[in-house]
Amino acid sequence: CGIVGVLGNHEAAPILVEALKRLEYRGYDSAGIATVNGGALDRRRAVGKLVNLSDLLVHDPLPGKSGIGHTRWATHGAPTVGNAHPHRAGGVAVVHNGIIENFKDLREELAQKGITFQTETDTETVALLCEFLVCEGLAPIEAARKTVARLEGAFALAFLFEGAEDLMIATRKGSPLAIGHGDGEMFVGSDAIALAPFTDQITYLEEGDFAVLTRNSLEIRDQRGAIANREKRQIQLAN
Ligand code: GLU
Repeated sequence: CGIVGVLGNHEAAPILVEALKRLEYRGYDSAGIATVNGGALDRRRAVGKLVNLSDLLVHDPLPGKSGIGHTRWATHGAPTVGNAHPHRAGGVAVVHNGIIENFKDLREELAQKGITFQTETDTETVALLCEFLVCEGLAPIEAARKTVARLEGAFALAFLFEGAEDLMIATRKGSPLAIGHGDGEMFVGSDAIALAPFTDQITYLEEGDFAVLTRNSLEIRDQRGAIANREKRQIQLAN
């Protein structure tokens, strides 16, 4: 129900949790974060309030300066730890708002290739399809692009990749997504209000946009694949 992300210069976990807190108003049943640290992808997830995730992180910290986070409002699959986002398949982690309408078809297609599923969610299909394409030899950006091209429904998505600490993909169709520009840092949020403590420089993705983020760059392509110039605005939000 809420997505956040950071490619930063400080520990990502506290930033992600703080940003997720600002999305609590949207409602949720579970929460989770993933980071890349020294190239390795890892995640922590908890059912219930964000404080449960914070408590888990105290006992089992998640280091890393690049990360994605999510508060989930379950639509497919019960609100369990296993169904909580980020979903992970191999070296791909994904957070998702919305519904992938054609996930059953995609799931069947992947099952026929011998791929097995751990969850009942529509979102896991996205991670598995992307990982499948990476295993076929596609670079992360291309794998994500091809994955998103196959999706039907309403979604905002953020992708994080093992071995890629300076890369995040953010894309939207039917669900909002904002990019926040920091000083050598880049942020993602379902709502700019999530990013208010970190930056007031915001670029709103438009319908169908596919954004490639690094700490120092943002490249947005529109739904036809053409480079899109989206305005960076200074917005006024109460901290
Ligand atoms: N459809 C996804 C799920 O059930 C995402 C729900 C959401 O937007 O939080 O896991």
